[in-house]
Amino acid sequence: MAKKNNQTATKNKCQKYEKAITHYVTGEEMGMTKKELFEHLKGCKNCRRDLTEWQDTYAVMCAESFSKTPQGQAKMQKDLTALKEMMKKTSLPIEKSIPARPAKAGGDTKWEIKSAAERIYQVLKENGKTPIPVLRKKAELFDFPFYEALGALADQGRAILHKDKTTYSAEAR
Ligand SMILES: [Zn+2]
Repeated sequence: MAKKNNQTATKNKCQKYEKAITHYVTGEEMGMTKKELFEHLKGCKNCRRDLTEWQDTYAVMCAESFSKTPQGQAKMQKDLTALKEMMKKTSLPIEKSIPARPAKAGGDTKWEIKSAAERIYQVLKENGKTPIPVLRKKAELFDFPFYEALGALADQGRAILHKDKTTYSAEAR
């Protein structure tokens, strides 16, 4: 009996984070701090898997934008609109009950991304062009600093993303 109650409590708890995850991935207001979300992710396999799935979808779209071509930009805009539509459809009623609070970028988070970026860069230097899932594995990073760190490297011009048919890879510059 107690176990059943716990499971129900866990499921309800996750609903709140499912919504925050999609918003986190697209960089929108989450209704909670990153710290709160990450604390939950550390202990919840289901939500981590959700996050990975959303990030993979979103990373593919972001990779399009790195091409800087009008076609790439247009495709990303189209995909982003489709993703947002999908998010609206799957949005839970609980969304409305979460008060909007500005997300704070903590010093720890910045440090986490910076050190993750160095790790990724090291792996890319050692391995050359590496498919994204392999890179994530080799860098032994949690999913959440990984994409931000990879994005930071790309912004700094230290890494470049390639698309070969359906596979996305990164390479150090
Ligand atoms: Zn969860």
